[in-house]
Amino acid sequence: PVDRSPEIQEARLKLPILAEEQVIMEAINENPVVIICGETGSGKTTQVPQFLYEAGYASSDGIIGITEPRRVAAVSMSHRVAKEMNLSHRVVSYQIRYEGNVTDETKIKFMTDGVLLKEIQKDFLLLKYKVIIIDEAHERSVYTDILIGLLSRIVPLRGKKGQPMKLIIMSATLRVEDFTDNQKLFPAVPPAIQVDARQFPVTVHFNKRTPVDDYNGECFRKVCKIHRMLPAGGILVFLTGQAEVNSLCRRLRKAFPFHKNKTEGDEEKEESVEETRKFKKSKQKKTMPLPKIDLNSYSVLPVDEGDEDREAEMDDDEDAVGSDIDLDLGDDGLEEGEKSNSSLPLYVLPLYSLLAPEKQAKVFRPPPLGTRLCVVATNVAETSLTIPSIKYVVDCGKVKKRFYDKVTGVSSFRVTWTSQASANQRAGRAGRTEPGHCYRLYSSAVFSDFEKFSPPEITRRPVEDLILQMKALNIEKVINFPFPTPPPTEALAAAEELLIALGALQEPPKTGRLKDLQIAKLSCPISPLGMTMASFPVAPRYAKMLALSKQHDCLPYAITIVSAMTVRELFEEFERPAVSEEETEKLKGKKARVIQMRRIWAGQGPFQKLGDLMVMLGAVGACEYAGCTPKFCEANGLRYKAMVEIRRLRGQLTTAVNSVCPDAGLFVDPKMKPPTETQVTYLRQIVLAGLGDHIARRIQAEELLDEKWKNAYKTPLLDDPVFIHPNSVLFKQLPEFVVYQEIVETTQMYMKGVSAVESE
Ligand code: ADP
Ligand code: MG
Repeated sequence: PVDRSPEIQEARLKLPILAEEQVIMEAINENPVVIICGETGSGKTTQVPQFLYEAGYASSDGIIGITEPRRVAAVSMSHRVAKEMNLSHRVVSYQIRYEGNVTDETKIKFMTDGVLLKEIQKDFLLLKYKVIIIDEAHERSVYTDILIGLLSRIVPLRGKKGQPMKLIIMSATLRVEDFTDNQKLFPAVPPAIQVDARQFPVTVHFNKRTPVDDYNGECFRKVCKIHRMLPAGGILVFLTGQAEVNSLCRRLRKAFPFHKNKTEGDEEKEESVEETRKFKKSKQKKTMPLPKIDLNSYSVLPVDEGDEDREAEMDDDEDAVGSDIDLDLGDDGLEEGEKSNSSLPLYVLPLYSLLAPEKQAKVFRPPPLGTRLCVVATNVAETSLTIPSIKYVVDCGKVKKRFYDKVTGVSSFRVTWTSQASANQRAGRAGRTEPGHCYRLYSSAVFSDFEKFSPPEITRRPVEDLILQMKALNIEKVINFPFPTPPPTEALAAAEELLIALGALQEPPKTGRLKDLQIAKLSCPISPLGMTMASFPVAPRYAKMLALSKQHDCLPYAITIVSAMTVRELFEEFERPAVSEEETEKLKGKKARVIQMRRIWAGQGPFQKLGDLMVMLGAVGACEYAGCTPKFCEANGLRYKAMVEIRRLRGQLTTAVNSVCPDAGLFVDPKMKPPTETQVTYLRQIVLAGLGDHIARRIQAEELLDEKWKNAYKTPLLDDPVFIHPNSVLFKQLPEFVVYQEIVETTQMYMKGVSAVESE
């Protein structure tokens, strides 16, 4: 029996999924695999685990596991469900890569999909679980796809063993054919239950014209207009990345200053009565009837022909605010004198995945009284998190994605149009609590050219890590694996080849044809080294480095370097435009200091040859020595969140290494001494062993045929020049041979994470 508070009970009853509890539970009781589709916010993530719990699916002989593609969701959903059920975090818990609060009492466990994949390696049948819920399956993250493939085999095996397990796949869209019409995956078609969306109508407004470049400016103008002209209700803006989000937040805060946020807790207390009154009054007067438009009708064409024109006016004539032109977005005009809400402060919050968790959590709390909430977000807000009381969505229509070249592995971040499905998801965020509006900063013609759905991630990125994990699970013929959508054969072959080069797979006999044949069939078995590598939770190249580092006491350093290379964005970005002159000076001073620190960390003479990896080692060493405080990070241009992750990953890798070779007796030493010269030499060899295929040679003066090759490097696979990234400590030194962590293409192709290799 669950003892919920009356408020929670009331809120639950409003969720559409509650009406389906019986249908859902009957389907689950009668079928090993069930698919549940329902709009974001219908209650899938928070309620289905509770249904299962109440139906007795968590007992002494098994618990309920839920996977999320994003860490943010795993943590915040476990908190939410614990609160709704009035149970402690000891019972409703979470586990993400670096942390968790799982106990012996845990009955409901939220985790990232990567965590469950690791567990399958230890216990293929997942005997600890009675139910696995794969959430957000529509996102088609690589791990989600692999998990569904594996679970399609595990579920029948559990049935045969007489310890049946249920698999529930939850999706925010109805596009589930990859799971249902896939005989290889599920020979018996699993039932798909559709939860009716209790979604209020959302009116979609397309721009008449699509801005060529400046969608950021366009977003700013649109938010300003909504805030000045439209009735109360939260605004949610979709942009493509962290830098854009922060920059729009700054602009908006400047345009609509919100002076009371000196300390968060004081916001409400300092609320002025007068403002509240003004706010209430304007709210009463301004309720405009909204056009009744069904959400389902917006997917292809603009709902209202007139909208485009009105929109265009809004766009073309920014100064119109306060003038007589009728600029409202609904059917009713606003009366003169009521047009400006600008006295109302705008409470602007950013939301993106690298944001510190306590800052992320702010978006769930009600905004200070008498303010309008405006959340500026990346894709995180598209499906996994439901932000309360959003009435207006501003959608730039773009998404930032990493693209990989299938052959060379060169990656670039590109901003492209999103898919129709995701644009519709974004629009849907506006209709959660009342009818809403979505402003698309592009025309309906552009929208109809969007691809219908984004292709699954597994078809878009290198897969060596997955292949190694699968081989470690004794899946030798990867090509026969029941992928919901298989990766391209080139990507599979490239992965197999890299793993052979790293020694992780047994090399097929070198009789020409046979080797080709085996790679083509992708059936090389894993080697003992490969098994060791697979036990490290890092990419195969880095796992190889760890596996080689036992000599000369290099392990603690290799672990640190690998941790630093694995965690994203160690160093703060400096592109932040200063708000004032004073700040400009401060930033200049800081930049100088940071550059100096990087030089110090890079060391002298032979130490320097380890290049950027030496800098990483030095930065982590110094930061840990100083106690890894936010203050130290801030002063030295390090990203605190990254440093904390590195610390956790070091701990995790240290444990992993100890369990593979118990005599290593490693521990994480916060006062780790810098490596000796000999150790640095070995470290460079180790790095070369892992990154051997990432080698580049500088073009010598006598070879210089074309200016474009000045200071450039040549790599075996690329015809075009690549350069050392300007942020690298080796940028000026230009060693003859280097290895790099990755090549990222921006204006040029840049090598990042560079270290020098001896030329002999
Ligand atoms: P779905 O998984 O179908 O998208 P959820 O179960 O995540 O839906 O959300 C159901 C409802 O619970 C939503 O209306 C949302 O507003 C509410 N909710 C979710 N998390 C929180 C939270 N942390 N605080 C308050 N309400 C929340
Ligand atoms: Mg959900």
